Amino acid sequence: MSWEENVRKVVPYVAGEQPKRKDIIKLNTNECPYPPAPGVRRLAEQMNTDDLRLYPDQNTTGLTEALAAYYHVSPSRVFVGVGSDDVICMCFLTFFNGARPILFPDVTYSFYDVWADLYRIPYETVPLKSDWSLDVEGFDRPCGGVIFPNPNAPTGLYEPLSVVERILKMHPEEFVIVDEAYIDFGGESALPLLEKYDNLLVVQTFSKSRSMAGLRIGFCIGSEKMIRYLNDVKFSFNSYTMNLPSQLLGVEAVRDDAYFKETTGRIIATRERTKQALSGISFTFPDSKANFVFATHRSVPAEEIFRYLKERGIYVRHWNRPRIENCLRITIGTDEQMDRLIGTLKEMPGIL
Ligand code: PMP
Repeated sequence: MSWEENVRKVVPYVAGEQPKRKDIIKLNTNECPYPPAPGVRRLAEQMNTDDLRLYPDQNTTGLTEALAAYYHVSPSRVFVGVGSDDVICMCFLTFFNGARPILFPDVTYSFYDVWADLYRIPYETVPLKSDWSLDVEGFDRPCGGVIFPNPNAPTGLYEPLSVVERILKMHPEEFVIVDEAYIDFGGESALPLLEKYDNLLVVQTFSKSRSMAGLRIGFCIGSEKMIRYLNDVKFSFNSYTMNLPSQLLGVEAVRDDAYFKETTGRIIATRERTKQALSGISFTFPDSKANFVFATHRSVPAEEIFRYLKERGIYVRHWNRPRIENCLRITIGTDEQMDRLIGTLKEMPGIL
């Protein structure tokens, strides 16, 4: 027997490029163009590196408590992980162990099918409608759980809480995970629904709205029981997942609510300006409530635009996948960066 037969074979997720060059305009992985809160910087500059000889707090107590206070829940309802990727991956391992397939949209965060394959979790996808909205009725079938982002990625479309609630009502016996990676850019969080539905888990991240993708901080809020089960799995996997600097600096980010509101507000304003500018040069897109726009040009294929921009140092995201091959996901940067993008697009033959 060849040893290769016993390998867990997986097709890994492909993240957006992280080029080393600093002179590009990076609009391809939905990072925030603004730095983290000033308190984060201050603390980072004063950090006592002698403390790094110790293991970090495995319960991430400080950060968990800061998040619990911010979202008005008990700390026993908060689970912190190394980015929301880590949190969601732990959720798949912990909660999706039924024989029935889990459900998620066909066009969505492309890590979900990778985790399902990794853990051998059966899944089915529910096609989005032609306007990119969720086909709510499509979720009304026996399943082993549901996960979807709200706003969805890469479409940016936000579904009202009534839609989230309809899905929760369809599946009172299953876990429903709402991935709110982009919720801080204008959507309404499903967190209040936690009071009514104990099968709901809401996941969020510091990577976008809190400008801290580099520190890898994500979290979820659910019932105390769910969080206990998640912790049991986490502590059976790796106790010391989150490093000390991330734990300390994360607290500083939560503390500065004024900065958080200011930066998310700026991004929302830039997004709305960008939508207008893109419409003016014949792009169409679903009405994004995220920090990106999912745009298609009337006549020029997305892949050509993608290459044209890249050659000129502007990175956006493009996938060669069914249904979305003619779309570009463009992260919202600063006003200046978006002006450069629009200016460069206008110079491309066929755009105007
Ligand atoms: N969910 C969605 C919908 C995302 O787009 C991303 C970012 N790639 C994540 C989760 C994970 O983000 P992070 O691990 O940086 O928190």
